Amino acid sequence: MPEIFDERHALGLDERDPLPTLRGEFHMPCAGDGEQAYFVGNSLGLQPRGARAHVEEVLDTWAEVAVEGHFRGHSAWMPYHELVRDGLARVLGAQPREVVAMNSLTANLHFMMVSFYRPTPERPAILVEAGAFPTDRYAVESQIRFHGFDPATDLIEVAPDQPGGTLSMAAIERAIALHGPRLALVLWPGVQYRTGQAFDLAEIARLAHAQGASCGFDLAHAAGNLELALHDSGADFAVWCHYKYMNSGPGAVGGCFVHERHARSDRPRFAGWWGHEAASRFRMGPEFVPTPGAEGWQQSNPPILALAPLRASLELFDRAGMAALRGKSLRLTGYLRGLVEQRLAGVLEILTPAAPGGHGSQLSLRVAGGRERGRSLFEYLEADGVLGDWREPDVIRIAPAPLYNTHHDVLRFARAVEAWRDRTP
Ligand SMILES: *Cc1c(COP(=O)(O)O)cnc(C)c1O
Repeated sequence: MPEIFDERHALGLDERDPLPTLRGEFHMPCAGDGEQAYFVGNSLGLQPRGARAHVEEVLDTWAEVAVEGHFRGHSAWMPYHELVRDGLARVLGAQPREVVAMNSLTANLHFMMVSFYRPTPERPAILVEAGAFPTDRYAVESQIRFHGFDPATDLIEVAPDQPGGTLSMAAIERAIALHGPRLALVLWPGVQYRTGQAFDLAEIARLAHAQGASCGFDLAHAAGNLELALHDSGADFAVWCHYKYMNSGPGAVGGCFVHERHARSDRPRFAGWWGHEAASRFRMGPEFVPTPGAEGWQQSNPPILALAPLRASLELFDRAGMAALRGKSLRLTGYLRGLVEQRLAGVLEILTPAAPGGHGSQLSLRVAGGRERGRSLFEYLEADGVLGDWREPDVIRIAPAPLYNTHHDVLRFARAVEAWRDRTP
């Protein structure tokens, strides 16, 4: 048996890892008598044990002092969104004034496009990747129609040009150059959800801006996964959710970034009272005066109960640090790649690019032999306490999350695949 398939080897890697696991800070789902090997943190991150206390604090305050909760104590509801601001800025590589937790991802995407998609007859188009997450496609298509333009000509989709359905930087560059004069907006993912491919965001923003287009990022699969430098990327805006790698619970409040240079923008926006300058908000005047920065795009007073778990999550990100987490993520995913390449190459084809800059935590694995075999493997894994997720027609996504997954979890996956192969004709 090659050494890396040895259980002692995996346990040794965990013991010697420079970033000890924070698994104990999470509720690990059970499978059979033990813990599940949970690789679906890219879909719904696990619950930090600290989340309950933050949610209960809100419930207690509400029960005990009701409306006074807006003003009482160091987690008063009035400035509650500020409690997550600095932690979020650190995770995203942004300045505190550039980020805000509000709404949900798709809603934020629409609100950002109100300000940063300003089409004209000469420049009406939005450029996206072909195979974008459906909500992103629906959002941009509906925005194009809303402005009276036609998605048939004004929604430009860049097709994958590499094996496994990934995109080369050259293909992105060619498309931006080809359509440049007609582009109003380039909208790109930080990590592609299906293939796990990560992109050079600063370069994409540079290319878009060089053509006179705005640039926005969907960081649903990148926030809490990659070590982002969102401010330095120069993007005009970004949106993300907090229920994937950010571990803040189902339907958690979304996130939004507006670059510092737009802090006092007079671009059109859909305004609401919570975006009004805080100092004069409660004069309740008729004229909207936006708070400088991303908070000026808020509409409503935030859902405090839904923000509470994010505090617990950010405490853990701060404890580990994004750079250390990314380091561990590369080690875990590298180990996974090694195991697959060494013994499972006949069963699984890795679709995700191998270069460190080309991926985050997730590897997308195509099962050889088609859908039926793929389903058989997927179901075998699940019954064996190893949970990934299934993408039609034949892909299993495995995302070791560095906050709570271990080398030992990764080995459990590889061994289960091996056991399935050895018993499947
Ligand atoms: C998860 C995900 C979403 C989810 O959108 P919601 O508005 O939070 O439901 C959107 N886009 C991408 C790329 C995603 O991965």
